Amino acid sequence: MSVSVVETKNPLETEAQGAELAVSLRDGDVVLVRGELGSGKTTFVRGAARALGVTDPITSPTFSIGHRYRATQKTTVSHLDLYRLASGLDAEDPGLLDDYLGPGRIAFVEWPVQDSAELASARVRVTLTHMGADRRRIEVAEG
Ligand code: ADP
Ligand code: MG
Repeated sequence: MSVSVVETKNPLETEAQGAELAVSLRDGDVVLVRGELGSGKTTFVRGAARALGVTDPITSPTFSIGHRYRATQKTTVSHLDLYRLASGLDAEDPGLLDDYLGPGRIAFVEWPVQDSAELASARVRVTLTHMGADRRRIEVAEG
């Protein structure tokens, strides 16, 4: 397990941290991205997805559980926001995540309040914290 902590001063720096993490991601990886609203989760994912080859605009999944983006010929980037699944994943449709996780995909999951069995296997956990104004603390733990 390796843990790194940085503090960023603006959204571009947070995107750059996402891009840095992207270098070490592998096929099938799940990245849990935690933090309160506005802490920069989507910004971080945007930087990572860009670095993985996504050219479409990366927006917050608001009306659906997630988006899928073509990154390279071999890789799809999944971006999920589980904020509204307050009751936990297992209580909902157990197959809900099937289209988003697994081989050929790298998945970023915002706000996994409770880890479900499916998400417990995530290799990478990112935690963002508001430090006032535009400062954000970003902790990245890789298994
Ligand atoms: P979340 O997905 O956690 O709700 P977003 O990434 O959607 O957060 O929004 C973060 C907001 O904070 C954006 O409006 C962004 O411009 C702003 N912001 C200011 N400073 C930073 C920073 N250092 N890192 C990331 N976002 C920042
Ligand atoms: Mg978000």
